[in-house]
This record gives sequence, C-alpha cells and structure tokens, in this order.
Amino acid sequence: MNLFDLNGKVAIVTGGNGGIGLGMARGIASLGATIVIAGRNPDKAASALRTLGARASFIAADVIKKSACQTLIAQTEQTYGRVDILVNNAGTSIRKMPQDFTEEDWHHVLDTNLTSAFLCAQAAYPAMGRAKGGKIINIGSMMSLFGAPYATPYAASKGGIVQMTRALATAWAKDNIQVNAILPGWIDTELTQRARQQVDGLHENVEKRTPQGRWGTPDDMAGIAAFLSCSASDFVTGTAIPVDGGFSVAI
Ligand code: NDP
Repeated sequence: MNLFDLNGKVAIVTGGNGGIGLGMARGIASLGATIVIAGRNPDKAASALRTLGARASFIAADVIKKSACQTLIAQTEQTYGRVDILVNNAGTSIRKMPQDFTEEDWHHVLDTNLTSAFLCAQAAYPAMGRAKGGKIINIGSMMSLFGAPYATPYAASKGGIVQMTRALATAWAKDNIQVNAILPGWIDTELTQRARQQVDGLHENVEKRTPQGRWGTPDDMAGIAAFLSCSASDFVTGTAIPVDGGFSVAI
C-alpha cells in the first residue's frame, strides 16, 4: 500500500496558473497525478506549465460562469478519462470599508471565491461518482476565522467556504468523496503584493504576528494539498486546516 501515490489520478486546480494554486499543483504533481490548471490568463499558465512537468495542461475558464465550470470538468474527463481531485483555489479580493462597497463589488468577490467553488464541486460530482470517489479541496483564509475592517465580502466568502466544506463533506461521504478546506496564512503572491500596497504596515505586522516570523510561500502549500489529495487522508473529511506558521494560534 502506498498512501502517497497519485499515479493514474487526475487533478484540476482552479487558479493553478499562479500563486498558491501553482504551489498546490506542484505538490499534487509530485505524487504523480496528471494536472489541469484552470484560469483566465494563458500567459501566466504557459509559465506555470513549464514548472509542472509533462503531465500538465491548461484549460481556460472563468469560474464565475456556471457553464465554464461544467466545461472545465467535462473537457478534463473527456481528455484524461476521469476526474479524481478538484482544488477550488481561484480567488480575489476588493479592499474597502464596508460602507464603500458597491453591490457589484460584493457579488464579484462572493461569485469568484464561494459560488465558483460550489459550481465546480457540483459539476465534478458525477465525474467523481464514475471514478468511485474523489477529493475536493476548498481554499479558505485566515479571514475564515478572523475579521478585518477592509475585508467584508472576502471574509464572508471565506467563512462560507468552511461551512460549505462541512455541508458537502456530510452529503458526499457515502460517495467516497472527501471534502476539506485549507486555510492559508499570509502567503507572498500577487494578491498579497496588492494588499501590501493598500494596507499600511501589513508586511511588518504579518512578520511580527506570525510565530514562525515570516510570510509563507506558495510552496508551503504543496504538502497539505498533496496530503488531502491522496489516500493518506481517506478518513479526513469536513476539516479546515490552517497552514499559517502559527498565525491562528498566537495572541
Ligand atoms: P493570486 O492572485 O496569485 O491567484 C489567484 C488565482 O485565481 C489566479 O491564478 C487567477 O488566475 C485565478 N482566478 C481569479 N479569478 C478567477 C476566475 N474568475 N476564473 C478563473 N480563475 C480565476 O492569489 P493567491 O495565490 O494569493 O490566492 C489563491 C487563493 O488563496 C485565493 O482563493 C485566495 O483568496 C486564497 N488565499 C490567499 C492568501 C494569501 O496570503 N496569498 C491567504 C489566504 C487565502 P487568472 O488571473 O488566470 O484568472
């Protein structure tokens, strides 16, 4: 028995063309899985694919759209014969005080971070049934646990990710589908480079507040994604695992 073998398995990582998604895709690929990265930007995808080896490809998808989620899953199953692992990682943020958000801002963040994860999971369910089981990994955040003045829709979406994960885990346990969430701490990516321009002192505050004393890197997310994708985690479902250098347990 090899608990950490993904040879023959097929994984989809939304937003796998950069940042945390790419770090997780590398982790899952390192156990032998075939990887499909999905996103909107083909140039970013081309450079991501160069780091993922021969068994990886890109499918252009704007996961805000239900039809794009359905096509992503269908095209992957058609090309590779199965879908075993879905990582719902695509995400965005708009930072404003609550009183300044437009209704459009709210929907954009909720649709990108939460609704897309639901739509992709729903689209993947029949394919995972045909594969006799599956793994769904949803990406939350420290904002699944904490609040911040500038993060109302983002925190709502990431809190929702945790509760959706629990509900899906209970619904699909009998189908041998495990559904878990990862809650990354502060990770150095394009998203947080923007945040550091917009939020005064954020860079230093994260270093000070994180027991391990540093920002995370996308590669810090590789191991947890690999674990939650392989049979080593077959009795783990409905959890939300912080990967944060201790941020969420420090006062
Ligand atoms: P990046 O901005 O680097 O990556 C976000 C990815 O999502 C991009 O690859 C982007 O690809 C993709 N994406 C965004 N919108 C869509 C869409 N509508 N359809 C398809 N793909 C989309 O950010 P991170 O790597 O930092 O973030 C990844 C996830 O991790 C997000 O869910 C974020 O909320 C979460 N997170 C990040 C933390 C951090 O500190 N960095 C902390 C906690 C959680 P493209 O541009 O090609 O569409």
